[in-house]
Amino acid sequence: MAQAREPGDRRRADFHSHSLLSDGVASPRAMWEGAEALAHRALALTDHLSLEDPAPLLDRLRREARALEGGGIVPIVGVELTRLPPRRIATVARAARRAGAEIVIVHGETLMEPVPPGTNRAALESGAVDVLAHPGLLAPGDAALARANSVALEISGRRVHSLTNGHVVREALRAGAELVVDSDAHAVDQLIPLEMARKIALGAGVPPTRLERVLVTAPDRLVRRIRGP
Ligand SMILES: [Zn+2]
Ligand SMILES: [Zn+2]
Repeated sequence: MAQAREPGDRRRADFHSHSLLSDGVASPRAMWEGAEALAHRALALTDHLSLEDPAPLLDRLRREARALEGGGIVPIVGVELTRLPPRRIATVARAARRAGAEIVIVHGETLMEPVPPGTNRAALESGAVDVLAHPGLLAPGDAALARANSVALEISGRRVHSLTNGHVVREALRAGAELVVDSDAHAVDQLIPLEMARKIALGAGVPPTRLERVLVTAPDRLVRRIRGP
């Protein structure tokens, strides 16, 4: 069956969210516990990082995550690289990994909170980025690059960034790139349960036959890449 199963079966993984360590309103712990209550399997906290030292943010996130290890949710620690000069993205992504980021995502070229042109391409070419968040009007060739370099393209559940979801899905399907549905939640009540993620994916043009791959298979593979089998 292509349709995702019961919403309570801990299959939902979300790779993009924020806590009060950047511009979110809830503590990391409250975000993770909120995701656990929504039957998520995993939630990545990816607070914004630009050119500052990544260590203070990541030390704090790792400490908070350690307190939840072994519980009902996999607490993934990461960053969203935001408003960097594109030529710095690869270096900062690697620095964030050295400082303990398990996942690195990049704030892509969304229509509403623009970043320098070339951000998408630099993220896709960096070799150190897992997810290109809200890529906006992905250019020709970018989805193929995402596929070649194993970067997942994001279907955004955040209203301001969701305007180009249809375009992103079309390009990803054409190129065979992986897609994930992320909440980009800045508060606990913005987290997205599996059933809503399914509707957002369908609304963005993911065919029903592809839903399982977008909602479960690709996220599972990413969790395994981060945490091991
Ligand atoms: Zn963003
Ligand atoms: Zn974000």
